[in-house]
Formats: sequence, C-alpha cells, structure tokens
Amino acid sequence: MIETSKKSRWVWPLGLIATSLTGAAVFVFRGCWHSKMSWPVRSEDYSYQVCMGCGIKRLFDEKAFRSYGPYSYDLQRLMAWERAHRVKAIGHEAVSQQRSAS
Ligand SMILES: [Zn+2]
Repeated sequence: MIETSKKSRWVWPLGLIATSLTGAAVFVFRGCWHSKMSWPVRSEDYSYQVCMGCGIKRLFDEKAFRSYGPYSYDLQRLMAWERAHRVKAIGHEAVSQQRSAS
C-alpha cells in the first residue's frame, strides 16, 4: 500500500497508543533500559524490583528468582496485573467455567 497524501490524517486514538506502548514508551521517554534493578523488595504478598536508573518497578518471582510481567511506576497496577495473572494460572486448572464478570 502506497502512502499518498494522507499526512494530515494523523488522528490516532491517543489513549489506545498510550496504553499499548506504555512499557516501550517508558524507556524511550526515560532513556533507560532498566538494566540495573535493585534487590527484590517485599510488599505484602508481592515482591518487586526497582530500577536504579529511573525508579520503575517490576514484579519479581522469588521461586524462579527472576523478574516478570510489565514494568510500571505504579505498584498498585503491578499488583493488579499479578492478581489477574495468578488467578488465570490457577484458574485454568481448577476452574473450567468462565465467568464474565468485569
Ligand atoms: Zn529504568
């Protein structure tokens, strides 16, 4: 497909872009690869690492001893993600029925 003269049509749903690119945008914006993460910090039921460069957080699996999941500056968001992730992991064995509660 050839791009002709549609340059003025740059109206993308910004919210959608912001959501899908959050992880990538963070390092672009901050210029940080989060290569220097702190030792895991324990908070309630969760462990996470904090980037020494920019302060972003990421969940940490103590059993596997590695970080996982998305990066976020908002720990609450990571916890929410983890909860959903954990429920899914357990759920696919125990629960076979799907509930569509938002
Ligand atoms: Zn970083």
